[in-house]
Parts: sequence; structure tokens; C-alpha cells
Amino acid sequence: MKTLKIAIQKSGRLNEKSVELLKNCGLNFENYKSSLISPVSNFPLEILFLRDDDIPEYVQDGIADLGIVGENVIQETEVEVSYLQKLGFGKCSLKIAVPNNNTIDDLQQLNGRSIATTYPVILGKFLKEKGITSDIRTISGSVEISPGLGLSDAICDLVSTGGTLKSNGLKPFADVMSSEAVLIGRKGSENEDLVQELIQRIQSVLRAKETKYVVLNVERKNLPAITALLPGVKSPSVVPLAEGDWVAVHTVIPERDFWDRISQLKQAGAQGIVVMPIEKIIL
Ligand code: ATP
Ligand code: MG
Repeated sequence: MKTLKIAIQKSGRLNEKSVELLKNCGLNFENYKSSLISPVSNFPLEILFLRDDDIPEYVQDGIADLGIVGENVIQETEVEVSYLQKLGFGKCSLKIAVPNNNTIDDLQQLNGRSIATTYPVILGKFLKEKGITSDIRTISGSVEISPGLGLSDAICDLVSTGGTLKSNGLKPFADVMSSEAVLIGRKGSENEDLVQELIQRIQSVLRAKETKYVVLNVERKNLPAITALLPGVKSPSVVPLAEGDWVAVHTVIPERDFWDRISQLKQAGAQGIVVMPIEKIIL
């Protein structure tokens, strides 16, 4: 059988979460910092550990079948790959920022100014769409110090909390793109079945992460009010308790409106609410 290859970041912001996701998919492999390639012992898969910049091209050229990388890197390298799944980590946005004391308050004021970035392709497209002509200065790192050094009037860089901008006396000014880690695949890969199997495993892990397993007790007379509040995978399971007019209700609740839902359940008569993490949800 053919062995699939998946490329992930060797070290950096996406490494740990990428490794964790693959391990949660039940894949057994060693995560040696020194090795560039690690075989998976219980799935026909090899993991390639690479610089994130190289991942899109490796996938496009078929050296790897799959890759995990930020959308920003894919857009910047302008490769032809398939977006298979957003992964929910590595969230950030590419922003234009200007020094705090700067009076620029309109995009058009960037006309004729210089902007330092490691993302010249994305920034170039963005400015063109807005009809702005700026001098894009491509540098390879530490973009945030360039206005302070007099190298540029503004910067365009990735921001997650904004702490780095702040500590360099810069303020965010315009959003260019938002990004998160995604699973990409080669267009027209011939290992479709294995790729699909892996995508399904990844999706079942992501689904589980978004939900909690909840067990609660309720008096039978309050059951309709409780079930009306619960989605479940299909509908909640109801289990009789030894005490005749009480039941236990088992269900799953989406993480995003978890606390609202719990207080509604309490108001509707739920007691002894137990909440558990879910490992996988296979539909
Ligand atoms: P490599 O050595 O693999 O080239 P790198 O230094 O280019 O690594 P990292 O800083 O590790 O890259 O960031 C990897 C990805 O993490 C980014 O491309 C982006 O998608 C995402 N990311 C999330 N938050 C941030 C942030 N605050 N700054 C930079 N990247 C971020
Ligand atoms: Mg990089």
C-alpha cells in the first residue's frame, strides 16, 4: 500500500498544535526534534517536519500529499493546492500598522508611503484592490522595528494579541487578511481513500473539541422543558433513575454557548450537572 506524507512545521507557532492534532487522531509517531521525517507506526503515513514557508510548494509538487500551514503562507506563496479543512488554531491577522504618533487615518494616505513587510504578495494585491500605490519594502523579519529605525512609514505584519505592536509604539490601522492553520492537499492526489480517512479522523477530533458531554438529573415533569433546550447528536438519551419520578439526561452541548445553556438548564430544573470532555465524535 502507498504511504501518505503530511508536512507540518518543524518548530514554531504551529508545531505543537499540529503534533497534538495528529496524535489525537490516534496516530503513533515519535516527535524527535532532530528528525525531518517520522514514520507513523499504525497508519500508512510519514510526517515531514519542515519550515512553514516550504510546506505549500511541497504539497503542490506532490512531495507531500497533505500539509498543515497558515492561510497567510499559502496566499503568499501563490500555490495551487486544495483547502481541505480549517483547523481552528494559529489564528492571527495580517494588519497594516503605523506609529502611535502618526496622523494617518485613511487608507488613501498610504499613497506614496513606504510599508515594510514579509508579505509583499498579499500586501501588493490588497493595495492594488484599493487603488493605492505604496513603496513595499520586503524584509525577512523583525518588521515591527522598521518604522523606529526610519526604514518605513508603516508595516504590514501578523498580529494575534497586538502586544508586539504595542511594545514597539505601533497601532493597528487596517486589516489585510485573517488567517488560521488549515489542512491542504495536492490537487488531484491519487491516494484519495487514505486522504479521506485522515480527513475524517481530523474532523471527528475537531467536532469533539467543539462540544462537551453533559449528564444531568431532572424530575420527569420537567423533562420536556429540558429536552427543548438540548440539541444532542440526534436527541438526548433519557435514563430512568432508581427514584421513580427522576431521570438522567445524557447529551452533548456546543462549547461556544456552553455557559448560557447550562444556566438555562438549571432554570428549567436540571440538577447534579456533570460535564465531561469528548475525545472523538464519529458521525
Ligand atoms: P518557520 O521557521 O517554520 O519558517 P516562522 O518563523 O515563519 O517559522 P512562526 O512565527 O512559527 O513562523 O508562525 C507560523 C504561523 O503561525 C504563521 O505563518 C501564522 O499563520 C501563525 N501565527 C499565529 N499567530 C501569529 C503571530 N502572532 N505572529 C506570527 N504568526 C502567527
Ligand atoms: Mg516561515
